[in-house]
Amino acid sequence: MQTLGTATAAPGEIDTGRLEAGETRDGSPFGLPVAVINGAKPGKTLYVQAVSDGDELNGLGVLQRLVPQLDPAELSGTILLVGIVNYHGFQIAQHRNPIDDTKMNRAFPGDENGTSSERIAGAVYGAASRADLILDLHQGSTSRMINEVRVRCGRHHRLHSECLELAKVFGCGYILDQKGPDGQLARVAPNEGIPTVDPELGGSVGFDEESIELGVKGIYNVLYYYDFLEGDGEYTAQTRAKGFDQYGAPAGGLVSFQKDLGERVSPGDTLFEITSTFGEPKATITADNSGVFWRSRRLPQVASGEYVCSVGTDVDRY
Ligand SMILES: [Zn+2]
Repeated sequence: MQTLGTATAAPGEIDTGRLEAGETRDGSPFGLPVAVINGAKPGKTLYVQAVSDGDELNGLGVLQRLVPQLDPAELSGTILLVGIVNYHGFQIAQHRNPIDDTKMNRAFPGDENGTSSERIAGAVYGAASRADLILDLHQGSTSRMINEVRVRCGRHHRLHSECLELAKVFGCGYILDQKGPDGQLARVAPNEGIPTVDPELGGSVGFDEESIELGVKGIYNVLYYYDFLEGDGEYTAQTRAKGFDQYGAPAGGLVSFQKDLGERVSPGDTLFEITSTFGEPKATITADNSGVFWRSRRLPQVASGEYVCSVGTDVDRY
């Protein structure tokens, strides 16, 4: 038997249920939606979670599409799924957990007696730490972003090559290989010997079809490569960035971009221009370093100092 919260599945079975994670403000208990897919044959355990950030729905779109396709009779090993981690943020389509105004992905490994985010992180980490591999499905929030996979353990970590391999197998086309901030699942779990990555499935308001398709394909690539399923995935060289330059607005106004997502950037190339309400030029911002145009704000209006776009730097093929 494989169990996650109230979901229990014998070999060759699938079950869904709830993972108890605390109480809401009206005193009702709440549980995160979970599923267990127990393969007919023994094998590894894969843990996948989505909606750690409450406005990032593409990962949920992936799980909705993936689970009905998977046949436990054909599976070796177990897949543990948490469909919605940031329970409170999801209810109001907000990035952070509104109960403590915290990003869930700064609260791992969590604490059962801690803040709201730490308690939820602790509940899901109990399941994640049982796995051999972890996928934490994210996206570039509601900004526009390329599809990429993040390796967050840092390049000097003992599990770095295993995490990088998992990122390459998932295969979104791009990898950001840069140590993440404290409290990220993909930073914490490798310390326990579990290869972990954050697939970042584009950036959208609501569902984005292309990124969801890439996410489904990425999980199938993982299932084939690590012998959960018989067959072959599609594995290709990835474009890896090891640095990340962020550009802000030197002046307030309206932004117009001169680069598209995924486009190569050379030092001195114009990234964006800022114009006034009546179209007068105010500023032209050029790239400091070469790289790939990675992420950009969605709305054109900016205040001075506000985030505008990012360029992935120190790029190679891996
Ligand atoms: Zn995220």
